[in-house]
Amino acid sequence: MLGGIYSWYHSRKSASRGFHTKIVAAVSEPLISKRPLNCIPFFHARPDKFVRRYKMTTGTGSSKTYTLNNGVRIPAVGFGTFANEGEKGETYKAVTKALEVGYRHLDCAWFYQNEDEVGDAVHDFLGKNPNVKREDIFICTKVWNHLHAPEDVKWSLQNSCSKLRVDYVDLFLVHWPIAAERNDDYSVRTGPHGKYVVNRELTDNPEPTWRAMEELADSGKARAIGVSNWTIEGLQKLLRFARIKPAVNQIEIHPFLPNTELVQFCFDNQIMPAAYSPLGSQNQVPSTGERVRDDPTLNEVAKHSGHNLAQVLLAWGLRRGYVVLPKSSTPSRIESNFQVPDLTDEEFNAVEAVARGKHFRFVNMKDTFGYDLWPGESR
Ligand code: NAP
Repeated sequence: MLGGIYSWYHSRKSASRGFHTKIVAAVSEPLISKRPLNCIPFFHARPDKFVRRYKMTTGTGSSKTYTLNNGVRIPAVGFGTFANEGEKGETYKAVTKALEVGYRHLDCAWFYQNEDEVGDAVHDFLGKNPNVKREDIFICTKVWNHLHAPEDVKWSLQNSCSKLRVDYVDLFLVHWPIAAERNDDYSVRTGPHGKYVVNRELTDNPEPTWRAMEELADSGKARAIGVSNWTIEGLQKLLRFARIKPAVNQIEIHPFLPNTELVQFCFDNQIMPAAYSPLGSQNQVPSTGERVRDDPTLNEVAKHSGHNLAQVLLAWGLRRGYVVLPKSSTPSRIESNFQVPDLTDEEFNAVEAVARGKHFRFVNMKDTFGYDLWPGESR
């Protein structure tokens, strides 16, 4: 088993050494490879030693936790609760199963419109399991685009908390770096074209939104605050005025979108990346029809490792040093996704080789928002 401790740190000196030398671990036990991954290209990069400024990681596999830049601990494997086409009750069942299996990190959002089911599941689980306390469960939620005005940010968190049946959340994120207009009933305002009406002022200058986030952190309603879908440029702007630095940037990451530059930027600035769609979201590359789950090399790595592909993808994310947020409504998958193995160097490097140079984004709501966050990216 790999007994290494993986960490991320802030080091200007080694910033130019590249992503892998910084997040790949020092390994405390000899590596034993079961058999060579014939026909799989991989790089013989040795895990370099790295400088640890302070210990930020404990445990391995699904028991791994990281310490955020404000000292709050976050479980490395979180449970995604976005059930796009889910039937009523599906989220309740899935979250209940996840808590029974041992997940202690739930990724929620105002936008998912199912926080009431998450809240009921948490409430009922805690009722049946008095040994588990509210503070043992890390709950993240997010403010949607049309609620970026400072008072609305606060309204959003209060609204989420009451549905989640909690007094505070562990992490509160700005879901997208795009502000939109709302109606009086707190629904999204859409224009004649059916797209969101973008609030240009708050989109160009998110300082008022962030100040409201900081106030929520000060008040203890959110133990940590952060962002989601932020780009490097957006983070640079935010960091210029932030009194409280974002603790997390939740972004799409899987082998078809390794997002290496952004992940590295986050590490360099002590912002923990959290990988959404870590299993490739089951989507396909529009131009070629490729899917992460069908990739022959990734499937070969899974076969070689003796684990299923989802477990390999999650293990790859943990070894790169960030949070992973798999979603499933299938009880057996909820269970197996929480059994994250350690990859050998060879297996890890084989996944890295698949990911290198790829940039296929599956989650892009530009047609809904009427705003393209990533202009120039082909889809
Ligand atoms: P994902 O976790 O990569 O993939 C989910 C899909 O994979 C579902 O169709 C699920 O099917 C399937 N699946 C799960 N486990 C599997 C396994 N072991 N084997 C085969 N298939 C498996 O993608 P995601 O749902 O897009 O993202 C996960 C979470 O990230 C979301 O729930 C949400 O919390 C978060 N997210 C955030 C944002 C954002 O903008 N911040 C955007 C997207 C997602 P079944 O459910 O049928 O098992």
